[in-house]
Amino acid sequence: MSTQTTAADAARQELGPGFSGTLIGPGDSGYDEARAVFNAMIDRRPALIAQCRNTADVKATIAFAREHDLLLAVRGGGHNGGGLGVVDDGVVLDLSGLSSVEVDPAKRTIRAGGGATWNMVDAAAHPHGLSTPSGIISSTGVGGLTLGGGIGHLSRKYGLTIDNLLEADVILADGTEARASADENPDLFWAIRGGGGNFGVVTSFTFRAHPVSIVQAGPTFWPLEQTAEVMRWWSDFIRQAPRELNGFFTTMTVPPADFLPAELHFRKVCGVIWCYCGDEDKAAEVFAEPQQFGNPLLHGVGPVPFPALQSLFDGFYSPGLQWYWRADFVKEFPDAAIEQHVEFGEKLPTLHSAMHMYPIDGAVHDVANSDTPFGYRDANWAEVIVGVDPDPANASLVRDWTVDYWDATHPYSAGGAYVNFMMDEGHARVRASYGANYDRLAKTKGEYDPENVFRVNQNIEPKAA
Ligand SMILES: Cc1cc2nc3c(=O)[nH]c(=O)nc-3n(C[C@H](O)[C@H](O)[C@H](O)COP(=O)(O)OP(=O)(O)OC[C@H]3O[C@@H](n4cnc5c(N)ncnc54)[C@H](O)[C@@H]3O)c2cc1C
Repeated sequence: MSTQTTAADAARQELGPGFSGTLIGPGDSGYDEARAVFNAMIDRRPALIAQCRNTADVKATIAFAREHDLLLAVRGGGHNGGGLGVVDDGVVLDLSGLSSVEVDPAKRTIRAGGGATWNMVDAAAHPHGLSTPSGIISSTGVGGLTLGGGIGHLSRKYGLTIDNLLEADVILADGTEARASADENPDLFWAIRGGGGNFGVVTSFTFRAHPVSIVQAGPTFWPLEQTAEVMRWWSDFIRQAPRELNGFFTTMTVPPADFLPAELHFRKVCGVIWCYCGDEDKAAEVFAEPQQFGNPLLHGVGPVPFPALQSLFDGFYSPGLQWYWRADFVKEFPDAAIEQHVEFGEKLPTLHSAMHMYPIDGAVHDVANSDTPFGYRDANWAEVIVGVDPDPANASLVRDWTVDYWDATHPYSAGGAYVNFMMDEGHARVRASYGANYDRLAKTKGEYDPENVFRVNQNIEPKAA
């Protein structure tokens, strides 16, 4: 490629009519829409965006990036906090055209394309009364969420998303196709269940589905001043609660949403967002204690179709906000840590900013730390602090609160963090987050991607076998 020829021109010439999708470069119409990701704090300008429609397009795009020595970012749902689905001056391999979802109700499986989002999975699976563990916002990509682990409303009952992954079709760095499952390429199957996009481009995922249709769900809110007592109570309560009950703790500001009482709008609160997927008959018994503990401001739990729960906050957290993320795994809450949560809850800087503490006990603990790369199964919680605001002028305000909060609570953490809740935080942090699994990941990376073609991610550096 001469200095005069752009990557997009070169791609159009070299990939030509064999490419079924769309090739977009700077200056082309649609470039700004195509390069935008969920987090508006990320503003990157790729040399080429290859919107793929099939596996042949995926292979051609990988080969093109390699041949021209261009950085390659793989985009699933575009939700990643650190913007790992887009790259400056390189190639974005956009999978949004591979988003079909098929459900096999007899086998109870869901097959989703590598660029599908969870609302597409919900739309296909819910009519069959089925679901599989995902996250808490429906517009998140199946690809990134799954490859990092997948923590959500069904985790205590059915485990992480990766614990329900049966097989995946992967295009490797050299363009070959590999099926990853317990029987085929088991080392690759191990690596992609938490190791992120380091090992190849996943064009389709097949999940085990579960009978989840109508759940009993919603928030309980307490005054922010009760944060310490609610946090202590909830952390004991949830660990001995039936697995069908999930409830993540939050300090947040009540959004002005129709389904929430107007008198609570804009009030800072602490709360638990519940999802009970067990017998409806037992729901009253299960929620008896949360409903009464500490005189809540609101106990808003009721029957909800699972897709409605997953999309409850979609409108509030719409694309295009400024996001700054920090995270940790947590085993226990000493009083000193709780004091920090109280202090930073009081300092919540904006309406959209929040702290979430997700339980990862129950079924998540049934799998050993070394069985998948997700190396903190012995932790009880995955904490995420998000500083969020629509106004770019508040970017440093939300960033400073997030970083100060994390600095204050990190000393009480288990060490690493859930990779999907991190920004681009450097190699030491990636190592800490995989813990004892890092060396095996590095060796597997050395086998499948020795030249580190897939490095726009929480990168695992290849180690020669
Ligand atoms: C509002 C919001 C809520 C969230 N809630 C949750 C939650 O409840 N639970 C949870 O676990 N996580 C949650 N997350 C985090 C989410 O899992 C990560 O942001 C994840 O990276 C998003 O995946 P994506 O495909 O949308 O992202 P992208 O930005 O497209 O990709 C992220 C990374 O995954 C890689 N990747 C994506 N798809 C593929 C593929 N098919 N093949 C190979 N590599 C791929 C990319 O290369 C990149 O490195 C949330 C994020 C947001 C913004």
